[in-house]
Amino acid sequence: MTDMLARPDVEVRDLSALRALAEEASAALEGAHPVEVLRWAGDTFGDRLCLTSSMGDAVLATLAAEAVPGIDVVFLDTGYHFAETLQTRDRVAAELDVTVVTVKPELTVAQQNIQYGQSLYARDSDSCCAMRKVEPLDRGLAPYDAWASGLRRDESFARRHTPVIGVDTRRNKIKVNPLACWTQDDVDRFVAERNVIVNPLVDRGFLSIGCAPCTRPVQLGEDRRAGRWSESEKTECGIHL
Ligand code: SF4
Repeated sequence: MTDMLARPDVEVRDLSALRALAEEASAALEGAHPVEVLRWAGDTFGDRLCLTSSMGDAVLATLAAEAVPGIDVVFLDTGYHFAETLQTRDRVAAELDVTVVTVKPELTVAQQNIQYGQSLYARDSDSCCAMRKVEPLDRGLAPYDAWASGLRRDESFARRHTPVIGVDTRRNKIKVNPLACWTQDDVDRFVAERNVIVNPLVDRGFLSIGCAPCTRPVQLGEDRRAGRWSESEKTECGIHL
């Protein structure tokens, strides 16, 4: 599959060239196993490829460790994570052949509280996410030409058109979505077969895990992401837009 695609100039920052590359690669890799998608990305971008993980589980990190050993895993430590999420990150770093890179916001939670008042997440979650997620991710991804995420089409209505290879137009980078075509059954089967590291909160009903103040367990019959920002209309923090 990799041979079907021309190796691009990895320094390219022209949006139309990125779109052309993504369109060609996406067509060639549609339906391919995630390891094959990640191998293409590793062959194409080398150490200018990373992945991001929220540490809900280590499905993508496990696949990436097989396809691109030693790959950087960028983790956003927002300062609001559950202890279980940080423990999951530490297990991933210790047990998988990956390099975890932790990125933090410019302000600590205490500094943010002083400047913007207590509990900004409850009053203006978009500003809180902008400072604690979007800006740190911009900074964390700056050294890379491509990044892989665990987005899947079946996660939510908003993600139903997720391409296998897309363009991050905010940052002018290739965005690789190796799990785009996988269903929840595919994920569950892989977790069971490979004994994949999973955040212990999943067993307590947290099927999508973000910051503690903005995440609740999901009730029976609800969308997997229904527990995120459930007190508002917000469905995405902005890092995938
Ligand atoms: Fe702030 Fe909540 Fe966004 Fe985390 S998810 S950055 S706590 S608004």
